[in-house]
Amino acid sequence: MRITHVEATVRTVAVEPEYRWRDGLPPSGATTDLTVLEVRTDEGFTGVARIPRGVLSRDLVERRVAPALVGEDPMLTEHLWHLLHELDRLEHFPSYFLGPIDVALWDLKAKAAGLPLYQLLGGATRTRRAYASTVTYDSIDQYLRIADWCLERGMTAIKLHAWGEPERDIALFRALRARVGDGIDLMYDASGAFDLADAVRVGRVLDELGFRWFEEPIREDGVEAYRRLRQRTAVPILAGETSAGVHRNIADFIQSDACDLVRTGVHYKDGITGALRIAHLADAYHLRAEVHGGGLPNLHLACAIPNTSMIEVIVAGEPPVLRMAIDTDGTVTVPDAPGTGEKGSDW
Ligand SMILES: [Mg+2]
Repeated sequence: MRITHVEATVRTVAVEPEYRWRDGLPPSGATTDLTVLEVRTDEGFTGVARIPRGVLSRDLVERRVAPALVGEDPMLTEHLWHLLHELDRLEHFPSYFLGPIDVALWDLKAKAAGLPLYQLLGGATRTRRAYASTVTYDSIDQYLRIADWCLERGMTAIKLHAWGEPERDIALFRALRARVGDGIDLMYDASGAFDLADAVRVGRVLDELGFRWFEEPIREDGVEAYRRLRQRTAVPILAGETSAGVHRNIADFIQSDACDLVRTGVHYKDGITGALRIAHLADAYHLRAEVHGGGLPNLHLACAIPNTSMIEVIVAGEPPVLRMAIDTDGTVTVPDAPGTGEKGSDW
């Protein structure tokens, strides 16, 4: 089988409801451009994925990726992953760019095999427990209403994105724990808001309140600050979502004793190929590799690997909207059609 076409189609899509991750980071806006990637072959199979951004991603696909992939055998995903990394040496691709290309190749391979992707990757389970991952809301009362809504729908775990201000965030943590009780898993994702001193202060409160993890407390561009944070707090630290370097960078975090849980995922870890490397690396240390973000490719990943616990489901707006459908018991079921189930440019 040979790749004959690599096509990038830019689509402008509505963002409903609009959202923000924390104070200091720009909000989503009402629309976003994305690029639908289609990898076509001489045997009729097409691999599909969605790349964030519009003209920037389309330019990189047309100028660098298509000339590299056309004529190649799409089944050789390891070979193609290294080929794309060679291009990264020149282009320094955005962190979100290579992942979807690898995902499209795996989608194609799974379709050719006639298997849902999670089975081709190994297959650990057909369902994963969902956690509600909130956007940042305006008030504590609003968060409490959102939490009530999530629990009424069978969810048993909630992760907060919040303002990134220690005092205000701590008041929210206390109010939320009091509202949901001790039986619900709570997590906090600071989206890199803090310096070391504030991260220690917040982390100690999260430990007192029994939070399941403290995610990306500090920007992830250095391992040493994380090592120091972990020495000074007991709450489990989840790190490595946004750092470059895929499994080699995660190896540095693990080797430095700088985290308790590691991030994997298709978005920033260069697709399925990179995410699997991280999951297997973590397993060698009996560590969980928690999957970052939702979407069908991440759901297949989370159902393929044994050492992960949940799938992230974004909850935004009020009345709330969930970005992925959950079952009544608060789990998500992976589709059983061949490939990822992602739709192409005809959607
Ligand atoms: Mg995160």
